[in-house]
Amino acid sequence: MRCKTCDYTLWNLRSRQCPECGSPFKPSDFSFVTNSVRFCCPHCGQDYYGTGLDGHLEPRTFDCVRCGTRIDMDEMVLLPTEGVAEERTIPDEMPWLSKSMGFFSRWWKTVLRGATQPARIVHLTQPESSAVTATWFLVVTHAVIGLLSVLTIVGFFVLMGLFAGMGGGGPGVGPTLVASFVGVALAVVGSVIGAIVLAWLWIAVSHGLLLVTGGTTHGIGRTAHAILYTCGPMLISAVPCVGMYFGWMIGGVWWCVSATIMVVRGQSVGPVRATLCVVGPPATVTALGIAAYIALIFGALSTARTAAVTAAGTARGMAAVAETQSIATAINAFALAQGRPPAHALELVTDGTLSAAMLSSVSTATTTAAIAFEATDLQTFSLMPATQAKSMAARASASLPAGVVAHRVVDFVFTYHGFDPAGPNNAALWVVIHSPDPASNPVSTPGAVGLANGSAMPMPQGMFPTFLQQQNDIRATFGLPPLPDPGTVRTGVSASAVPEDDR
Ligand SMILES: [Zn+2]
Ligand SMILES: [Zn+2]
Repeated sequence: MRCKTCDYTLWNLRSRQCPECGSPFKPSDFSFVTNSVRFCCPHCGQDYYGTGLDGHLEPRTFDCVRCGTRIDMDEMVLLPTEGVAEERTIPDEMPWLSKSMGFFSRWWKTVLRGATQPARIVHLTQPESSAVTATWFLVVTHAVIGLLSVLTIVGFFVLMGLFAGMGGGGPGVGPTLVASFVGVALAVVGSVIGAIVLAWLWIAVSHGLLLVTGGTTHGIGRTAHAILYTCGPMLISAVPCVGMYFGWMIGGVWWCVSATIMVVRGQSVGPVRATLCVVGPPATVTALGIAAYIALIFGALSTARTAAVTAAGTARGMAAVAETQSIATAINAFALAQGRPPAHALELVTDGTLSAAMLSSVSTATTTAAIAFEATDLQTFSLMPATQAKSMAARASASLPAGVVAHRVVDFVFTYHGFDPAGPNNAALWVVIHSPDPASNPVSTPGAVGLANGSAMPMPQGMFPTFLQQQNDIRATFGLPPLPDPGTVRTGVSASAVPEDDR
């Protein structure tokens, strides 16, 4: 029994005033552990023991058995019972529901004891105790968590702002601070509302599960006590930096364990059933959250990869179209100048219309080390003396079979045989196909086709067979034989018109 104003001990006093500060007091203002306090008659010293509610005398007014004077509990001299230490006279109580403690110690003691002595705390909480009062504990705790978390972040930015502002001076700091305070308030209120909603969802689901799995001793309010009064460990999540990552996990697991113990004691439920019903819902939500997060990460990765592949493909496709157009233009120019198409594409190079390097596409795996003709690679061919190159081009054209339809030089298949590429009506005929050299490219998908008028068309992925069919239909109207799949036209293995009966 200590003075509520100055904490001075009030034992063994006849006076009803604190000797230290003068505040009046009455023994009935205090609660004691039953039988822990001796009430002595102020007239004869006869002692009585407090056996009633709050360790008070029962009845509180009576005639003294020794001196016969009518005495009241509030006029008696109090002492701890023989052999009982003073602190053992203070009855244990649920701190949050205490009327003798200050607000902060009510909250902080509930945080600590809810986390460490859940069974004791639920025992000290009457089953009928208000769930709204318990919700206030959650509100205060989460407001503290929200405030600490947000202040950490704001503190960081304010520090950054101060450092940034050192050079430039003061203006702008005021509005920033006001915005910071408004932001802090909004963030805290939001986090508290979120906590109330989530906690009550948890309470409702857990209590529902308890009801369907065999019932409970008390109503949903008791389950609410268990979940609300054990939220203290979530304060770990407010620890700067680490709290954000590990605090949630540690605090959450601790909260679940304490709440389960409270449900076991408070609702007289077996530990296995209590664990399933209390830990089950948040564990399921967490597992789903982690799964969704992983799915999101992987989804984002594969989207990024697809986009990268598409972008690379687009860039390659554009390069192929540009290269094909240069070659189609060269063929058209050659035909205009010479009045005939080149006998062999190498003639475009020896003629000076096209550079040899152009025949190796940048969009394929082919290099200038690829064979251009016989055993000569493109690089060597481009560096040959003119006479030697011309004689090689002549040999190349002589090697083409009669009725040739298509021949390959490295990455391009030439299809201008049998018509005048500069002819006014031949614009829709293909003169060249961008076809990665099968000798260097395991997959040879045409990237573009060049037309007789010197233009080029991209070949979207998978569309080539359709376009080839259309081209062959057009060729048929010109009386030209169909073009083969350019991938089958290899260096030194040109395609010629196949007689009707062999097709
Ligand atoms: Zn006092
Ligand atoms: Zn007496």
